[in-house]
Amino acid sequence: MASVSINNVGKYYGLVEALKGISVDVKDGEFVILVGPSGCGKSTLLRMIAGLEDISSGEVEIGSRVVNDLPPKARDIAMVFQNYALYPHMTVAQNMAFSLKLAKVPKTEIQTKVNRAAEILGLQSLLERPPGQLSGGQRQRVAMGRAIVRDPEVFLFDEPLSNLDAKLRVQMRSEIKELHQRLRTTTIYVTHDQIEAMTMADKIVVMHDGIIEQIGSPLDLYDRPKNLFVAGFIGSPSMNFINGTLGPDGFRTDDGILMPVKTGDQRASGISATYGIRPEHFKLDAAGLPLEVVVVEPTGSETQVLGRMGEHNVTGVFRERIDAKPGSTINVTPDAASIHLFDINGGRLN
Ligand code: ADP
Repeated sequence: MASVSINNVGKYYGLVEALKGISVDVKDGEFVILVGPSGCGKSTLLRMIAGLEDISSGEVEIGSRVVNDLPPKARDIAMVFQNYALYPHMTVAQNMAFSLKLAKVPKTEIQTKVNRAAEILGLQSLLERPPGQLSGGQRQRVAMGRAIVRDPEVFLFDEPLSNLDAKLRVQMRSEIKELHQRLRTTTIYVTHDQIEAMTMADKIVVMHDGIIEQIGSPLDLYDRPKNLFVAGFIGSPSMNFINGTLGPDGFRTDDGILMPVKTGDQRASGISATYGIRPEHFKLDAAGLPLEVVVVEPTGSETQVLGRMGEHNVTGVFRERIDAKPGSTINVTPDAASIHLFDINGGRLN
């Protein structure tokens, strides 16, 4: 196992600056997820760590070695791709053994390693099948098996679950997390899915347009997003944002509704600001603010209400079952202790 240090790394594709001086420290044994919208540069960064893409500026260290000029096979990493990249004419066992065979590892050692990986991944009964006779989840496991047999310093995953259906994605998410808990191999994982990032990572790196917006644990990012971008990207349904003025008595929306803030968050002279509230931080309260119901979405465990508060669209999520008709009004109170406030540049105020 090894730490990975990404120091002020930049990448140009011709004139396009895909990465603008990125720095991330990945500790030995840590599970770090790079997340961000499509085109933010996360695959480019992963491919640079793997050695599949040149580094335009800065340094990548694995262990304490700068690897900028090392070819992929000298970096002691194993990568799992979105499309699995299995050889269709080889059996599961042969697929897993392939890289070891190329490296001229003795046959008995290959067999031991393949059997161990098969056992870890529950693939023992499938070793003689070709990939064509496997389900999507099983293929994904073989791709991971191929990485495990190499016993690398670092696992790199590039959107490994995107090709699976929703249910299998949830299952594989916990399988990968459990695998990491067992093997403790340093892992860097790319996804555009913030739920995947939240549920699996020790540390999340939120990227946007070639820069890092914030690095932190999943709950750090959820509870204290540094700016509007992270606040809007992490969490589903998304945080509600309402523009207005933060003054001495709280936050006044631009259509005149007074919203509560925590003691100490008020401003003596009013400033323009954005009020951020997560859907679950509204409470049903007969004395609260009116929310005109547009759509009610019950999931059984909770009820999501899309509605209008003054002139703003607002989403609330409630543990209670709410049987409100579209056009009717419910009353809700924001939990002042859980409010996020941002300045006009999108930076966090509280
Ligand atoms: P992500 O993985 O976050 O979707 P990428 O790392 O694939 O983003 O891409 C980051 C940026 O670099 C995008 O603007 C993309 O168009 C550009 N890019 C990626 N690969 C190439 C390439 N081979 N040639 C030119 N531009 C590229």
